[in-house]
Amino acid sequence: STDRRVAVVTGGNKGIGLEICRQLASNCITVILTARNESLGLQATDKLKDSGLVNVVFHQLDVKDPTSIARFVKFVESHFQKLDILVNNAAENGIIVNYDEFKAFKDGAGYEQVFDENAHLLASIIDQPYDMGEECMKTNYYGTKAVTEAFLPLLQLSSSPRIVNVSSNYGELHWIHNKMVKAEFLDINNLTEEKIDGIIQRFFRDFKDNKLLDNGWPLTCSAYKISKAAVNAYTRLLAGKFHNILVNCVHPGYVITDITSHTGHLTPEEGAKAPVMVALLPDDGPSGVYFSRMEVSSF
Ligand code: NDP
Repeated sequence: STDRRVAVVTGGNKGIGLEICRQLASNCITVILTARNESLGLQATDKLKDSGLVNVVFHQLDVKDPTSIARFVKFVESHFQKLDILVNNAAENGIIVNYDEFKAFKDGAGYEQVFDENAHLLASIIDQPYDMGEECMKTNYYGTKAVTEAFLPLLQLSSSPRIVNVSSNYGELHWIHNKMVKAEFLDINNLTEEKIDGIIQRFFRDFKDNKLLDNGWPLTCSAYKISKAAVNAYTRLLAGKFHNILVNCVHPGYVITDITSHTGHLTPEEGAKAPVMVALLPDDGPSGVYFSRMEVSSF
C-alpha cells in the first residue's frame, strides 16, 4: 500500500491526456497512464519515465470495452487498494475533417459560424457519418460513465477523491436550440441517467431521420456536442449523489492535438493546466461545476 495519491488518466498516450499524466506525476502523484493501444501507451509511459518521472505506470484501458475496464479495475485494486483521482479524458470527435479545406475557412470562426455563412462549403469540409457519431457517444459519454461506475468503490476508499471529466465548450447548452432538451438538461433536481439516455436516443433518431435542423440539435460536430453536454449533466448528477467526492467537468481550451486536426492555439501542455488544477482542488473546492479553462462557468 501507499500514502501517495494515485491517479488514473484515460486516453493518456497522446495529446492533453499525456500532458495531464506528466503534470500529475510532477506533483508527486502516482499516475497510471492508460491507453487502448498497448504499444502506444507503453511508448508514452517510457517517454515520461525517461524524463525522470519514475512514478508513472502503464495499463491498457479501452473505455468502450467492459472486459478491459474490469481487468484494469482489478489491477488498481490489487496494486494500490484505492483510487484518489480519476481523469476521464479519452474522447473522439465523430467527424471526418479535411484539414486543408477547413483551414481555408476557419479564420477565427467556430464551425457553427462557418456553417451559417457557407453551408454548402462546410458540408464538403466536415462530414459526420451516423456510425462515427454513435462511436463518439459510446466513448465520450458511455465510456466515461462505465469507467466512473467501475471505480466508485475504489474512489470511496480515498480520503479525498476527485473525478475530473474532460469536457468541451462544445458541450455548453447554447449549442442546443431545442428548448425541451435544454430545459431537461438544466433541471438538475429532476435529471436522471434515464433522462439523459432518453435525450441521446431522441438525438440519434433525429440524426437518422435527417431532422437535426428541424428539432434544434447542433448541426456540426453534433454527436460530439451532445456527448459532452451529457458528460456535463452526468457530472452534476454524480456530485449530487456522492458528497464526499469532488466531481467536476472542464473545458481545456482550444488545443493543438489530433482531435482538432492540429488547429487550436494552446499547446497540449497549456491544455492540461485546467484539468490538472481541477484534479488537485483542495478539499473545500467546488463540486458539480463546469470550468471553462481555469474559471467556473455556466453550463
Ligand atoms: P487526442 O485525439 O490527442 O487524444 C484523444 C485520446 O483519447 C487518445 O489517447 C485516444 O487514443 C483516446 N481514446 C479515444 N477513444 C478511446 C477509447 N475507446 N478508449 C481509450 N482511449 C480512447 O485529443 P485531445 O488530447 O485534444 O483530447 C483530450 C480531451 O480534451 C478529450 O476529452 C477532448 O474532447 C477534450 N477537448 C479537447 C479540445 C482541443 O481543442 N484539443 C477542446 C475541448 C475538449 P488513441 O490514440 O488510441 O486514439
